[in-house]
Amino acid sequence: MQFQLSEEHLMIQKAARDFARTECLPGVIERDEKQQFPREQVLKLAELGFMGMMVDPQYGGAGMDTVSYVLAMEEISKVDASVSVCMSVNNSLVCWGLEAYGTEEQKQKYLTPLAQGRKDGELYIGAFLLSEPEAGSDATSQRTIAEDKGDHYLLSGTKNWITNGSSASVYLVMAQTDASKGSKGIDAFIVEKKWPGVTVAAKENKLGIRGSDTHTILLTDVKVPKENRIGANGFGFTFAMKTLAGGRIGIASQALGIASGAYELALAYSKQRKAFGKEIMHHQAIQFKLADMATRIEAARLLCLKAAWEKDQNLDYSLSSSMAKVYASETAMWTATEAVQIHGGYGFVKEYHVERLMRDAKITQIYEGTSEVQRIVISRSILK
Ligand SMILES: Cc1cc2nc3c(=O)[nH]c(=O)nc-3n(C[C@H](O)[C@H](O)[C@H](O)COP(=O)(O)OP(=O)(O)OC[C@H]3O[C@@H](n4cnc5c(N)ncnc54)[C@H](O)[C@@H]3O)c2cc1C
Repeated sequence: MQFQLSEEHLMIQKAARDFARTECLPGVIERDEKQQFPREQVLKLAELGFMGMMVDPQYGGAGMDTVSYVLAMEEISKVDASVSVCMSVNNSLVCWGLEAYGTEEQKQKYLTPLAQGRKDGELYIGAFLLSEPEAGSDATSQRTIAEDKGDHYLLSGTKNWITNGSSASVYLVMAQTDASKGSKGIDAFIVEKKWPGVTVAAKENKLGIRGSDTHTILLTDVKVPKENRIGANGFGFTFAMKTLAGGRIGIASQALGIASGAYELALAYSKQRKAFGKEIMHHQAIQFKLADMATRIEAARLLCLKAAWEKDQNLDYSLSSSMAKVYASETAMWTATEAVQIHGGYGFVKEYHVERLMRDAKITQIYEGTSEVQRIVISRSILK
């Protein structure tokens, strides 16, 4: 066993760190306030190959491993979690699923431009449409219907909370093809946003990751060709669960980045802020907070890297990705809250960034499976 990163990993980490500082930091407070989607930043991420990091170069990807993805996600999330959630959804929930289960035609037509993040010079990214108003943690309760009409399906229903909802060109949609079969009666489809019957509805006004465009999507008799179904009939629920297992590595790394970003700011602040005649880092109460932050962050990082390593070795990573997500997201929430505390009153205002990191941290405990759902996955695995 060895814990050292390779030269290539260090280069990718540095590229992501430089990108976050030069491209994401300027304007991050304003984008958060205005709920502005970071289009320019995402286009530049695509140029770096970070929108299809793990996709085979023959399909437009960068051919990197999952460890590289964790490193890049951590660095970008330290600065702007709205950029990193867009990156995570495109990489883990859209490109990975298409590469693993798509047909050759689907890969040529959709995966290649999605992995490049561009088509005809324009932004070209994807979204993952599983959640519905009545189907969140219980994703089997799908009410979106896909009627088999011979050479096509007709899709109707409402999807909500969709990340990249208005900026994506391609949606991967889960829908019920046979309600009597429960989870085995769900299919996954590739749907283009521009098709008749697709409506991008209300944008959510959120607590955190406010630059990310989260929308409700309405589907009304959307005609989807048969060749746009992913996998065999009835594969949709398995497709969604397998995709989310990898997605959790991305969100765990996002949480890790939020935690380490907040920690780095608190550490720097503790060295310059004086109280009672000395820098606050000389007060033991502050030292212990910093020690606990550093320890929890290191544990979260090791969990993320282990899950990524297992995925790269083609081992089962569903348990470790759930462990990484629940631990890293709780570390993010705790660390960001303590970082605000270390900043005192200055932590409560926007200029010092930690209040935004605290707001952004919360979502990592909710999406792609809440902390409670991760504990269900973990306990099922250890008790079987
Ligand atoms: C900003 C944002 C972006 C999102 N992006 C996407 C996206 O791109 N695509 C997508 O499909 N979805 C997306 N989601 C949806 C997200 O995955 C769901 O919100 C999440 O899965 C929880 O579902 P819910 O909100 O319906 O909560 P519910 O399932 O109603 O849960 C409510 C509470 O009950 C708890 N609970 C539920 N069941 C159990 C149980 N069996 N045991 C113990 N506790 C339980 C939950 O943990 C939670 O605390 C996004 C959500 C948000 C807020």
